[in-house]
Amino acid sequence: MGFELSQRLKALPPYLFAELDRKKQEKIEQGVDVIDLGVGDPDLPTPQPVVEALAEAAKKPENHKYPSYVGMKAYREAVAKWYKRRFDIDLNPDTEVIALIGSKEGVAHFPLAFVDQGDVVLCPDPAYPVYKIGTIFAGGTPYFMPLKEENNFLPDLGSIPQEVVDKAKIIWINYPNNPTSADATEDFFKDLIKWAKKNNIIVASDNAYSEIYTGDKKPMSILQVDGAKDVAIEFHSLSKTYNMTGWRIGMAVGNEELVKGLGKVKTNVDSGQFNAIQEAAIVALNLPEEELDKLRSIYRQRREVMTKALRSLGLEPYESDVTFYVWTKVPEGYTSAQFVGRLIDEAGIVCTPGSGFGNAGEGYFRISLTVPTDRLLQAAERIENLKL
Ligand SMILES: *Cc1c(COP(=O)(O)O)cnc(C)c1O
Repeated sequence: MGFELSQRLKALPPYLFAELDRKKQEKIEQGVDVIDLGVGDPDLPTPQPVVEALAEAAKKPENHKYPSYVGMKAYREAVAKWYKRRFDIDLNPDTEVIALIGSKEGVAHFPLAFVDQGDVVLCPDPAYPVYKIGTIFAGGTPYFMPLKEENNFLPDLGSIPQEVVDKAKIIWINYPNNPTSADATEDFFKDLIKWAKKNNIIVASDNAYSEIYTGDKKPMSILQVDGAKDVAIEFHSLSKTYNMTGWRIGMAVGNEELVKGLGKVKTNVDSGQFNAIQEAAIVALNLPEEELDKLRSIYRQRREVMTKALRSLGLEPYESDVTFYVWTKVPEGYTSAQFVGRLIDEAGIVCTPGSGFGNAGEGYFRISLTVPTDRLLQAAERIENLKL
C-alpha cells in the first residue's frame, strides 16, 4: 500500500537541514561533545511565578472545559494592557486582540482568511519559513523580497514589480528580525504603512522579538505608526520574551477586520488554548521589567563573547543589539553549507546555514545565543582555535 501525499505538501521546498542533522548525529556517535547553536529556543527556564500560576490554575475544574475560541477575556485584557504599557498603543480587548496557540499557529493560519488561489503574498528572504508555508497552504503564491545587508536587511518596496504589487494581498515583515538580527527604523514602518494603504495590501508584522534587546533603544511595534491600524495586524508571543516556547501562547492584535478573519479560521480548526495556560500567561505579562532586564544582560554578555570570537577569525558579524541571533557572512570561497559543515567537522559546533532561510540567506550563517553561557564560552574558544 502507498498513500500519495497531497500536492500541497509536495509543493513544499525540501528540508534543507537533513544533511546537517545527519552530520550532527554522526559526530555525536563518534563521541564528539557537540554544541548546538542551531535552534532559537531559550535555554533559561520560564520565571517561577508563571510556573506556579499554571500549577494553581490547573487545579480549577472550570479550567478543564473547552476554552473560548478567541481567548479568555482576562487574557485579552492583559494583552491590551501590556501593549499600552510597552508601546502606548490602545487596543480594544474585545475586537482587536485574539489569543493564539503560539504565534506560529496564527502566522500559519492567517493567509487562510485572506488569500485566494492566485493571490500573491510578499515574504521576506531570508526568513522564518512559516510565512512562505502558510501562503502555499492557502493556495497563494509567495513572492520573495530579498533582505540585503547594504539595505540593513529591510525589503526594498520600490523594487517589487507593479504587476506583483497588484496581485499582492499580504506583506509579511519581522523586526527585530530572525535570522538577520536587524531591526527596522520608524521611517521604514511609516513608508510601509503609506505604501500598503496606497496599494490596498495587508501588513502582517511578526514581532516575536520585541523584548529581546540589549541596547537603550527599544524595538517598536508597527502599530505605533499613525494609521497603522487601518491595514496592519501584529503577531506576538510569550515564547521568546518569557522563555515560554513550550507553552504555546501568543496573540494577534490590530485591525479589527483582520483579527476577526483570523478568528473565523481558528473557530473552524482549533478550540483555543487551555485556560490554565492563559491564566499563567497573564502573570507573565504582568512581571516586573527587572525580570526581563536580567535576561537581557545575559544575552548581551553572550553576544559579546560570540562576536569577539568570530572577529578573531576575521569574520564580521552583523552589528546588532536585538534578538538572540548572530548573523555573519561566511569567509570568501565558501557556501553557507560548506562553512557550517566545517564548523561541525572541526569544532563540533552546529549552527544554521543562511541558505536554510531562503536563497538570499546564502553566504551567511546564524548562531543562536540560547545555550548556557559556559557552553557558549566553550564554543567561542573552539571557534577562536579554528584555522581558516
Ligand atoms: C520563535 C519565533 C516565533 C514565535 O513562535 P511561537 O509559535 O510563538 O513559539 C515567531 N516568529 C519568529 C520569526 C520566530 O523566530
